[in-house]
This record gives sequence, structure tokens and C-alpha cells, in this order.
Amino acid sequence: MALKTQILGYPRIGAKRELKKAVEAYWKGSISPDELEKISSALRQTHWQKQKDTGINFIPSNDFSYYDHVLDAIGMVGAVPERFGFTGEQVDLDLYFTMARGVRPGQTGAGTTQAMEMTKWMNTNYHYIVPEFQPDQQFKLTCHKPAKEFKMAQEMGFQTQPVLLGPISLLLLGKTVPNFEVLDLLDNLLPVYEQILKEIQAAGATRIQFDEPVLALDLTEKQRAVFIPTYTQLKKAVPGVAFQMTAYFAEYRENLPIVMQLPVETIHLDAVYAGNELEKVLDILPADKSLSLGVVNGRNIWKNDYKTSLQQLRKAVDRLGTARVIVSSSCSLMFSPVSLVYENEMDAELKNWLAYADEKLLEISDLARLAVVSDYLSDPVYQANQAAHDARRKSPRIHVPAVKARRAAITPAMTQRKSSFQQRIQQQQARLNLPSFPTTTIGSFPQTAEIRKNRANFKSGKISQAEYEKFLEAEIKKVVEFQEKMGLDVLVHGESERNDMVEYFGEQLQGFAFTENGWVQSYGSRCVKPPIIYGDVHRPAPMTVRWSKYAQSLTRKPMKGMLTGPVTILQWSFVRDDQPRSETTRQIALAIRDEVVDLEKAGIPVIQIDEPALREGLPLRRSDWADYLTWSVEAFRLSASGVRDETQIHTHMCYSEFNQIIDAIAAMDADVISIEASRSKMELLQAFVDFVYPNQIGPGVWDIHSPRVPSVEEMVELLEKAAKVLPPENLWVNPDCGLKTRAWPETIESIQNMIAAAKIIRQKLSR
Ligand code: GLN
Ligand code: ZN
Repeated sequence: MALKTQILGYPRIGAKRELKKAVEAYWKGSISPDELEKISSALRQTHWQKQKDTGINFIPSNDFSYYDHVLDAIGMVGAVPERFGFTGEQVDLDLYFTMARGVRPGQTGAGTTQAMEMTKWMNTNYHYIVPEFQPDQQFKLTCHKPAKEFKMAQEMGFQTQPVLLGPISLLLLGKTVPNFEVLDLLDNLLPVYEQILKEIQAAGATRIQFDEPVLALDLTEKQRAVFIPTYTQLKKAVPGVAFQMTAYFAEYRENLPIVMQLPVETIHLDAVYAGNELEKVLDILPADKSLSLGVVNGRNIWKNDYKTSLQQLRKAVDRLGTARVIVSSSCSLMFSPVSLVYENEMDAELKNWLAYADEKLLEISDLARLAVVSDYLSDPVYQANQAAHDARRKSPRIHVPAVKARRAAITPAMTQRKSSFQQRIQQQQARLNLPSFPTTTIGSFPQTAEIRKNRANFKSGKISQAEYEKFLEAEIKKVVEFQEKMGLDVLVHGESERNDMVEYFGEQLQGFAFTENGWVQSYGSRCVKPPIIYGDVHRPAPMTVRWSKYAQSLTRKPMKGMLTGPVTILQWSFVRDDQPRSETTRQIALAIRDEVVDLEKAGIPVIQIDEPALREGLPLRRSDWADYLTWSVEAFRLSASGVRDETQIHTHMCYSEFNQIIDAIAAMDADVISIEASRSKMELLQAFVDFVYPNQIGPGVWDIHSPRVPSVEEMVELLEKAAKVLPPENLWVNPDCGLKTRAWPETIESIQNMIAAAKIIRQKLSR
């Protein structure tokens, strides 16, 4: 008999982003709550049906969410932050969305209440809503979604396994006041979980999937110690219900012994990202537990290699027997797009290398069968899978000898600027002749409806390339004239030709493919279509030089060329799995290096290489950071170091936590770094002070995430704060990030104020 199968969650947005559209329509008030629920219910039914049809045994429920599964858990236990004024018994739909967005559905304009924060879910590109906990936090059961969803499935004829975010992860992934031990809230929280479990059991559930992703993180002794008592207590509440403990994306490592002792029936192992722990798990798995082996990667788009997966599965079956092994996805499939069926334009060769969520369901059921047949090597399904992998391995589309040769010829000298920063900055200063506290922006200017319309018209063939380029030149001219009029010191061309900072480059590089419907949820109703890096990366022709050169021709002020860095391009794509990520990053770095050198040749004196995703690439475990930071910083330097000393290299990062990585940031050796600083009121600069950051720095003085116009005084104050802790001669004046999401009116006012603030601080400090 085939092995049992499961997935840990199915994408909830819908193959055509039906959920996104419905939720946004609901926010606008154009559909009713009932209509929203009807669309959602139809989606869930479709998703469950697909799983049933492919023979998935343990079908998840409560993996659906209107916005975010962590927000669902927050709403379920009544952890509504005080500012939302919640006093009722039930967290309703409108309160739920208000927590996420700060705006009540049906309302327009700026939010009335500060939305809850978002942050990246583990090391994925999905963002969850960060729970907020007070020391006197009370919990109560304020939403019955898990039991309700279970019952709805039941009525449709599906017996499901509800998924719950475990109480320990819920607490640890949240934020709280300083010096408060958030796990002290467990005693308050567990009774609510007990109630939920009893409800689910009463509804007829016999199995529950607990997600405790923090088990793949570094935990303290104390944090680790709460798992056994917590789950012992929860198990007591519903002794007849089987529990599965689930973590993913990294090994359990030192948390493994605890996991093995938990009172649960099944333990999940992510065989893709923690496969090297399989042997150990098989050695110590207690006889009363089953193993869910996550062999099918839930967060990438490559066809599963049955050879590898079957080796893992058959090894597990050998040791545990067929009854104790479940074939699973490595994590929820919510990180992969829905179905290849909707990729009509993709060429057959590439398509044959891929598997989206629906294809992964099939893979899981194939593997469950192949894991128990004796002559799987001669099975046609196995052979077809291996043939696809062979074809991919040998495809000339993937392997470009010239790229490999160039990669092999990288020398340490190529990752070093010619002189030290102190020498470079003098030459740059002599060339650029900038005032103290030079002003600049991060690159993009407002992406107006007109810009988007022209781009769409060009893509659909409604306007010619020549017409489109003429339009872009006019846009650039407008933006350059505007900056001159405002009195900015280092200008930009405005990035009006770019739809997205990764896609724009990916479209011009070899080795990248784009999808028609490869949507994945980024946060809430926002979905992205990451490019697929399938082969060796190289740059057939300059990508940005034309626009930067044109922009420079319009002004005597220095023009800043704008590029996306290699780590960010990697991080925001689906990356090939047939070579280490570091190798792919180096190839991208060489392509960007060519562009940097070409910009220099075209007379562009300042070049910014954005790396907003550098930090989010950090591995989950601290002990793995050094290796990542070494190759990612090296890739940045490889991209930046082909230029002469007098060419000034900037980088930009839109976040504010630098404490733990400041040495790596310094090692990037950019002449100037711009960062997000206004929200933390410059407090983050302490990291740069403590480290004695040697190069120049532009701490953002304008929070571009809201339409609010910062006053001159408040920006002067921020600059004064910065100048107190860092050498004033090292400081730049700029916004937190690019302006593409802003409108012109607030942009004009804010830049005026920013320039005025720069003038004041120059005067104040020269006195
Ligand atoms: N240069 C980009 C812009 O201005 C940077 C965006 C980012 O950091 N995310 O839009
Ligand atoms: Zn940014």
C-alpha cells in the first residue's frame, strides 16, 4: 500500500488571485461580507477538492486566511492591541482588516489607527502581521475560525486536519515591551488554546497540525524548556486527538531532543532544508511516533527530483515501516504559485522543469506510491521525472561556458576598490565638488498613472518603442528639471522606465524567465510574480546606460546611476536549485559589474547599487550568518569594484536594524550608504557610532511610507541628532527610500522642506 500523504497548507489567493480581488472589493465597499465569504468558500472547496482528487490523505483546513494566518491567530486569542478599542466578544471582519491596515473597510484616506507592523515570515518573502503583547496581556477566545472551517469542509465532504499556529511561536514571533519575558504569558494563553482544541475535537477532528516554526530558530534554554509542559497540557485537553509537530526551513539542531520527547503522534521534518537531519531523526524517533517527511519543496518552483526524494523516503520506510512514514510538502505550499496550467506562454522545455502547487500535489502522490514499489526504477512515472531532470541538467540554455570561465577567473583583487576609502573620497570630492550635507534621493520619483499607462500601452503594442522612449525621455527631463529647481546636489533620472527593481534587470539578463501567473502572496492582498533564475546569468547588453546618459546630458549636476544589487536580485527571485545560491549571486554580480563599468564609461560619476534585501537573506541560525555574509558582501564588492577611485559608489538599504551586521555593512565598502532612519528617530545610528563606521552615510530624514509631509524643523532636528553622533562631514541628506509610491504634491513639498533643512544644518554647523 502506498504511503500516507499530506501537505502543510495550500495557496489561498486563488490561481487568478480571486481572493485578492474579492478582499480589495470588500475594502472598497463594492461587495458585501456575504459575497466575500462566498468567494472564499468556493476557493477553499476547490483547493480541498484538488487535494482529494490527487489522493492526499491529510488535507489541511484553517490554512485559508483572508489576510494572514498570524493575524488569524491574533484574532482567535483576542490579542487585539489596545489602540483598536476592542471590547466585544468576537473579532469581526472589519476589526480584523483594521488591525492589518489601519483603515476600516469602506473608509478612505489615511488610517485612523496605526496598523500593526509586518515582518518577513522566517526566511521567506511572505510578510506576517507582528503580534503585540503587553505584560498584563489577557487572552480570550474571540474567533472560532478553526472549528468553523473544519465543519465547512466536513459539510462539503472533506475530513481535514486543522492547522494551528502553536502558542509558543505565536508569542515568540510577536513583539513586547523591553525586559519582559513574553513566555510568561503562556499560562494565560493556553486555556484559550485548550478551548479551541476542544471545539475542533467536538466538531469531529481527529488530527491537528501544530506549526511551531520557532523550533527551526536559535532558542534559549528557557524557551526550549516550555515546549514539553505546554504540549503536555494541550494534549491533556484533547487526549484522543493526534498532534503533529511541525517546523520547517532549517534543521531542529539542538531543539531536536525536545521535539522527540513531545507528546505528539507525528513529527515533521523538512527534508529539503533539513535533509541532513534525517539520519539522526531516524535513529532517535520514539517508537510511538510517525515521521512526516517533507520531500517536496513548498517554496520553490522546480520539479521534484524523485531520485533524491525516494532515497530519503525509502530509507525512512526501511527503518520505520510504511505505517510510520507520511509523504509531505516541506512547508505550506502557500509560497509557490498555484498551477502550471495557467502558464500558456511559457515554452515547453522550461515548463517541463517546473512544478507549482497543483503539480506538487501530484508529485506527493507519485512519491507515496513509488516509495513502496520494488522496481520503481522501471516505473514510467519515475523515468519521465528523471528524463526531465536529465534534460534540464544537460540543457545548453542553462550552461553558458563563457559565464563559467569568467566565474572561475574571479580574483580577490576584483572585489577590492583600488584605494582606501580615505583616498577615494578625496578624489570623488575633487570631482563632484559637493557642499557639506549633500542632498540626494534614493532613485525613483512618483510612478504616476500616466507612466503606468504608457508602459502598459508599450507592452501591449499600442504604442511603438520609439513613442515609449520619447515618453520616458520627457519624464526624465521633467524629473531632472524638477531636481535642479529644488536645488538637489546629486540627481537621479527617476526610474520611470522600471516596473520593478528586480524584474527590470531580470528582463534584460540571460538566465531569467518570467511567468504569466506565477503569483505568490507577499502580504495581505499583495501578490508578486518573482522571476525564475534558471540558468547561467549574463548581460548581453547595457541595461540602464541609455537612460542615465540621457539624464546626465540634461544637467551639469552629477547624475547618479541606479542599479539593483546582486543579492537583492537573487533574494526576490525563484532561484535555480542545481548550484549553490552563492554561485548564482556571483554570476549576477559579474553582470552588474559590467553595467557599473559601462555607466562609468558613459560619464556617470555616482552609481548606486541598491541592496535592500541583503539583511533578509540572513540564515535562520546565527551560526550560519558568517558564511552568508561573506559571500553576499563579496558579491556586492565584485559588482562595485570595477570602477576608478573617483567614481562614487552608493548603496541603499531600506531597513533599520544594523546592530548585528554592521561589520558586514562596513565590509561592503560603499562610499556612501543611505538607510531608513526617520521612524527610529535616528536611534539606529548607534550601531554605526559603536562600530565607528568609516564611510559616508545618509540616514533617511523623511518617512516615505506615508503621504505625510515632514516639516523643516523636524528634519533639522533629525539631522542635528545624526550630527551629534557621527562626523558631520560624513553625513548626507536624503529620504528613507525611493518615491515611486508617493504622489507629486507631497513629494514637491517634502523635497522643498528637505532642501531647506539641509541649508539650515549647514549654517548651524559651520558656525
Ligand atoms: N532605487 C530604488 C527606488 O528608489 C530603491 C527601492 C528600494 O530600496 N526598495 O525605488
Ligand atoms: Zn529602500
